[in-house]
Amino acid sequence: MTIERYSECRLPTEYGVFRVIAYREASNPNEHLAIVAGDVEGKAEVLARAHSECLTGEIFHSLKCDCREQLDLGLRRIADAGEGVLLYLRQEGRGIGLGDKIRVYQMQQKGHDTVDANRILGFPDDARRYDMAAFMLKDLGVRSISLMTNNPSKVDGLRKDGVVVAKRVPHLVEPHEVNRGYLETKRARMGHVYDLGEDGVVTAPLQVSYDPSVLLDAE
Ligand SMILES: [Zn+2]
Repeated sequence: MTIERYSECRLPTEYGVFRVIAYREASNPNEHLAIVAGDVEGKAEVLARAHSECLTGEIFHSLKCDCREQLDLGLRRIADAGEGVLLYLRQEGRGIGLGDKIRVYQMQQKGHDTVDANRILGFPDDARRYDMAAFMLKDLGVRSISLMTNNPSKVDGLRKDGVVVAKRVPHLVEPHEVNRGYLETKRARMGHVYDLGEDGVVTAPLQVSYDPSVLLDAE
């Protein structure tokens, strides 16, 4: 892996003011971002999220997943804490890429859940990697992180790739009618935990402005 810090600026957002730092990786034309609040250098147990991009959810507000709500909650919690890091990692569809994620979605239309759809197409359940996350956190001087996630195997994945995860912090968003089945698959088949820990936060349910049964019938 060849990765370098490339550029940096101050970024005012609706959540608060962050510092955004871009990293370039030789093997990936898409650049990763660190969104940083406060002074994290030399700190341990820094509130953090390693968030992999989801164009359909974050840009087009797809209701098939909870990525946008998780991203939004992550930025909000870091801004509220006044200190923390969100790593925005450019690996779509759990690492298989955008076009193949859409192939998986097509397979889901035929009635398969997200895990089976991946397997039928020959993709691993999770192809994400986190060595770039380890590099970015080290570059920022972060000694260890408190990771906002409901996915214990993500903690393992990050640790395997060199990130020092001090603890997992639950990161709960309210399911809605359309993504309820997807979230249930993540719980039942992918080991996600939807408990409320001491730091647990639940956001208000997403308001869907049309009858979601229309979409469910179509699938
Ligand atoms: Zn998504």
